[in-house]
Amino acid sequence: MSGIYEEVEIEDMTWDAEIFTYFYPCPCGDKFSITLEDLYDGEDIATCPSCTLRVRVIFEEEDLPELPPDNDGEGQMTPIGGARDSGAVGEVTPVAVS
Ligand SMILES: [Zn+2]
Repeated sequence: MSGIYEEVEIEDMTWDAEIFTYFYPCPCGDKFSITLEDLYDGEDIATCPSCTLRVRVIFEEEDLPELPPDNDGEGQMTPIGGARDSGAVGEVTPVAVS
């Protein structure tokens, strides 16, 4: 794989429970970071904000902490995983046989 500096076990990374982000020290002096949401999305590349290096995070989804409730300001219940497909609105219409 090109552009990957290193592969890092997630247990070697630093977990920040306040911002739901994993960090790992970058050789440039900054830190690689990847959010929990990215990990649940299947993203496994942590990036550094100060350079172009990237690391691949080795993890099992079942080992991840739970995602935070999506409750900043909205208040109402949001179906988990349902908010992404904003194009599919309303009820599911079966394909009509024509
Ligand atoms: Zn860096």
